[in-house]
Order: sequence, then C-alpha cells, then structure tokens
Amino acid sequence: MHAAALDTYRHRGQRRALVEELRRKGIGDERVLAAIGAVPRHLFFERAFESHAYQDKAFPIGEGQTISQPYTVAYQTELLHLSPGQRVLEVGTGSGYQCAVLLALGVEVWTIEYNRVLFERTRQRLLEQFQYRGAQLFCGDGSVGLPAHAPFDRILVTAAAPALPRPLLRQLCLGGRLVVPVGDEQVQRMVRVTRESAEGFAQETFEEFRFVPLRGAAGWAG
Ligand code: SAM
Repeated sequence: MHAAALDTYRHRGQRRALVEELRRKGIGDERVLAAIGAVPRHLFFERAFESHAYQDKAFPIGEGQTISQPYTVAYQTELLHLSPGQRVLEVGTGSGYQCAVLLALGVEVWTIEYNRVLFERTRQRLLEQFQYRGAQLFCGDGSVGLPAHAPFDRILVTAAAPALPRPLLRQLCLGGRLVVPVGDEQVQRMVRVTRESAEGFAQETFEEFRFVPLRGAAGWAG
C-alpha cells in the first residue's frame, strides 16, 4: 500500500509539531520543512517503537545502525540546495527515511547501503511495501560511490568519514555538491564541497554532529 495511504491524522499532527521544532532549531528552507512534514517517519520504524518516530532523535534500526535524527536529515538536506529533477547519490540508505525525504523534493535518487540485512529490508519496505518511485537501491561500498551511474548533481553521505572520500569528489558534476560529516569516530563536522571546475573544489565547514562510521575503502576499516 502506498505510504500516503498508511498515514493518519494523529501522525500528521505529530509531524506538524516536529516541523515547528526543527524551525525553532534553525532549519529555514521551507521546501525541506515541507518534505519532513510530508514523509510519514513512523513507517520507517518497527510498530513497537512507532511512538518514538516524531521525537527529534536518532533511533536504532538494528545491525548496530540508526535512523538519523530529523534535525540532521533536515540540516544535510538544506545544505544540498536541491532542485527538482537533480540526480542525487545517497551513501548509507539505512532505514530509507532520508531517501523518502529526497524523493519528496522531486529529485532522482541512487542510494547505496553496505549492510545486506538493512539493504534487503529497506528495499522491500521502500519499493514493494510503500511503492516509492524514483529511487534505485544498491548494496555495496558507497564510500567509492557508484561510478557506473555518475556523475551526480548532489552526493549525500549519512555516515562519518575519516577524510573527504576522494572517489565521491570525482563523481560530482561541475557545480555539483557533496555533503559529508568528516572527523573521528566520536565527533564530526559537516562539510560541503562544491566542484567549481574539473580539478577545483571549494570546501565549507559547518556544525558538529555524531554519526555511525562510514565503512569501506574510503571509510573506516572494519
Ligand atoms: N540515511 C539513513 C536513514 O535515513 O535511515 C541513516 C543512515 S545511518 C546513520 C548510516 C548508514 O550508513 C548505515 O545504515 C550504515 O550501514 C551505512 N554505511 C556505512 N558505511 C557504508 C558504506 N561504505 N557504503 C554504504 N553504506 C554505508
């Protein structure tokens, strides 16, 4: 059944309150707030934990991973400055919630997850159960991107990288943007890189966050 058909009046009310909370915390992009307001986050939780869905908190999704805090999702999405129709790569599919928020903004999504159990569960949920359209899901090491599908207008990494993942920079279009948390395993700073020319990249640094580690060839070992 389509996600919208599984939404309820009560959940919409809880989402409106969450959107107001994000606005108070500094999220100003109305399109991003509308996307958070539109996506039923409770559908990305196990039934037993649904009551946590509209708190502004990260939450365990199994396999040692988390669904990111709504503030973090909104913050990263705002930094991307998306326009409808753009090609977006997400590294770290996790629950699929961030992917659904991107789709609500009218972009095309390629999303890659390292953990096969999460990949299978989210593919079934997003594409079969909730019938989301406009996303392609992959299982593998997203720290090296998806070269066969590059270039991308935007790349979003939802796990903590030890350094800027070089393969991802090469997969950006001219004028394309990469948003990635970079730091050690305890704390990271959000970084946005804009590709200004073939070899020219401008880097900006923003707030501190705490993400689960990015694994793989351009991530942390293990
Ligand atoms: N975006 C997700 C959501 O909306 O639920 C939250 C992502 S969670 C904070 C980070 C995810 O990145 C985890 O599911 C983890 O397995 C995945 N991950 C870690 N290293 C990865 C890699 N090299 N390639 C792809 N996914 C990776």
